[in-house]
Amino acid sequence: MEVVEADWIVIGAGTAGCVLADRLSASGRDRVLLLEAGGTDRRPDVIVPGAASRLHRSSADWGFYTTPQRGLGGRRVYVPRGKVLGGSGSTNTLIAIRGVPLDYDEWAAMGAEGWAWEDVRPVFERIDRRMPTERPKDLHPLVERYLAAGAELGLRSIGTGSRGPSSPGSACSVSTCAAAGG
Ligand SMILES: Cc1cc2nc3c(=O)[nH]c(=O)nc-3n(C[C@H](O)[C@H](O)[C@H](O)COP(=O)(O)OP(=O)(O)OC[C@H]3O[C@@H](n4cnc5c(N)ncnc54)[C@H](O)[C@@H]3O)c2cc1C
Repeated sequence: MEVVEADWIVIGAGTAGCVLADRLSASGRDRVLLLEAGGTDRRPDVIVPGAASRLHRSSADWGFYTTPQRGLGGRRVYVPRGKVLGGSGSTNTLIAIRGVPLDYDEWAAMGAEGWAWEDVRPVFERIDRRMPTERPKDLHPLVERYLAAGAELGLRSIGTGSRGPSSPGSACSVSTCAAAGG
């Protein structure tokens, strides 16, 4: 049996696990063992944007269900979670939009030290540099009308792309994906 020695063991190569393993190994000094229960992400239904629904209840999904829900007539609700390299980040719908600053500040006020908006803002800005932040082009006319209808109701248009909202309102989100093999 091969013995593997590591300084760090990261369990789960999902969204958080991959970032963590990348950071821990960045110096080149530490040995990092990244363990993943699922298989490869080199499969068309992961690579092709928009194919996420095909991954539901597939071999790349844990197939979780809730307990029977009294408020839903005893039905169990399907809860997709990725079981594949990249985790749910490989099976999600790629929408990227920032959270509302007030929420982060409230978490910090409740004791989540380091999670205030001013703490996390530089991280969002780093992410922004890696993805499109412009308003999506060639919007369907219905999207324009939807946004206009929101404005009529007092929902102001709040930034587009990953720059996201500073307060509740309506916005166009952007989707992110890497080129296959990239
Ligand atoms: C269908 C769907 C659509 C979504 N759409 C969006 C979206 O459009 N935009 C957005 O921002 N977010 C979206 N999300 C949410 C986002 O993908 C998740 O919040 C994020 O990926 C969670 O990251 P995580 O690291 O916590 O968990 P995951 O990415 O789920 O990673 C957990 C990993 O751990 C592995 N694992 C679990 N147990 C073990 C074990 N015992 N041993 C080894 N490995 C194990 C799993 O297989 C998985 O790979 C979506 C999520 C889903 C499921």
